[in-house]
Amino acid sequence: MDKIVSLCKRRGFIFQSSEIYGGINACYDYGPLGVELKRNVKEMWWRSMVYENQDIVGLDAAILMHPRVWEASGHVAGFTDPLVDCRVCKMRFRQDEIDPKKFEKRQCPSCGNAGSLTDARQFNLMFKTHMGPVEEDASVVYLRPETAQGIYVNYKNVMDSSRKKIPFGIAQIGKAFRNEITPGNFVFRTREFEQMEMQYFVKPGSDEAVWNDWRERRMAWYGKIGIRKDKLRFRRHGENELAHYAKAAIDVEYEYPMGWKELEGIHNRTDYDLSRHQEFSGKDLTYFDDATRERFVPFIVETSAGCDRTVLTCLVDAYEEQKLENETRTVLHLDPKIAPVKAAVFPLVNKDGMPEIAQKIAADLRGEFIVFYDDSGAVGRRYRRQDEAGTPFCVTVDSQTLKDETVTIRERDSMEQARVAIRGLAPELKRRIWAE
Ligand code: ATP
Repeated sequence: MDKIVSLCKRRGFIFQSSEIYGGINACYDYGPLGVELKRNVKEMWWRSMVYENQDIVGLDAAILMHPRVWEASGHVAGFTDPLVDCRVCKMRFRQDEIDPKKFEKRQCPSCGNAGSLTDARQFNLMFKTHMGPVEEDASVVYLRPETAQGIYVNYKNVMDSSRKKIPFGIAQIGKAFRNEITPGNFVFRTREFEQMEMQYFVKPGSDEAVWNDWRERRMAWYGKIGIRKDKLRFRRHGENELAHYAKAAIDVEYEYPMGWKELEGIHNRTDYDLSRHQEFSGKDLTYFDDATRERFVPFIVETSAGCDRTVLTCLVDAYEEQKLENETRTVLHLDPKIAPVKAAVFPLVNKDGMPEIAQKIAADLRGEFIVFYDDSGAVGRRYRRQDEAGTPFCVTVDSQTLKDETVTIRERDSMEQARVAIRGLAPELKRRIWAE
């Protein structure tokens, strides 16, 4: 993980937030390459949800919501983690992350002192702020800890305005905030992050089949963005792990350097959410099925993924240090579809009109995707820099170009070069980038 963190800083993927002031814990900024990678991940997700499904529409709800939303959702009363402090080393833990035997002895997992841990206190993870000029209890609002509630409270608006009938889904990408006790592992667990959530509204009784279907579809999506299949698995929650409202929950897990961890959750949330909002708002949120003349509160199947966690997964999964004959090559095998820069263009040497031709090629390609022009240093070093940035293709103008208007395309993973006519370059690159 240290290597990923350092590569991310060096190449401009991810920086510590407010670094010049010493940084702020568990907040990160995405640099020029990181923002492109993140946008591409979101774009692939949005496409697979909203563009490819007639029965799913998008939404972008506000981060600040009526405070009653969080009472109805159960977050005010129950969105807590058990917080434990060590009196000796002052470290802070989540009790559920401490070995139960150690906790019984109140032994600190960090400094090892027995009897040094406090009892667990429940700590609410929601960030509070105030709306308007007066800081009083009546003006408290929360930064949303999940995007899902914005979807639930808009379910009627969306259904009526888009003339959707059940079953249908609402997809949303947006920021969420959690005052995590133990953030860490880079952008795996942060206090400000982005979620990609889709809530699918179904008739009670069809929920199990829909939940089964979505877990397979979500697993397949990770394959589409290039994550290795043998690093992914499902982990189904046991009865004792389920949230009180959930009928079934399964995580898509990835094998990170720190072990198998959750990347996404697919949950059967029953009619809990809409029933609660109906109760707290006093508004009728039932659905009337014209065909069967039945009225019911829809069940919800949710797919909830972390965008930052997906970006981290892409980076971890793509990272390789390859031993070549005389050197080690650091390469990010990012799928071309999500790679920040799709192609780099080089003149082999800075003479004989090669830079001008290369500049023109780069300019012509730029309307299609992000292209990087580079004429500094030996061409081998330029290739290496692009390998590290995950750029899938490098196009080089050489002396042959001057004779027959062809260039080489060098593929990042195999390092193989093929010669193509400049005329056919753009379609050839596009074919290779978007290949399934
Ligand atoms: P945990 O139990 O690990 O705190 P969770 O089960 O509460 O996580 P969910 O509420 O299901 O997580 O959130 C859905 C997804 O949002 C997660 O699978 C993860 O990808 C992402 N996510 C949740 N919390 C964070 C965070 N603090 N930082 C980054 N991503 C997060």
